[in-house]
Amino acid sequence: MRTLSLFIFLFFNNTCKETTSVYICNSPYAKKYHNNSKCRGLGNCTYKVISIDIEKAKKDGKVLCGWEK
Ligand SMILES: [Zn+2]
Repeated sequence: MRTLSLFIFLFFNNTCKETTSVYICNSPYAKKYHNNSKCRGLGNCTYKVISIDIEKAKKDGKVLCGWEK
């Protein structure tokens, strides 16, 4: 039973990680994602700021914004 509990714990832990949302500037040139929608890195975005899944942002080749490291 102990092993099963650990498995369930890990399963839910992973599920949580995958649903983490980040903010990006919806521009074809944006290469960064942001944890905070009020981040100064998004301040000069002339496109719409949208919320997407962090895994999708990484797959698109985006990296965490320099202001938030
Ligand atoms: Zn940022």
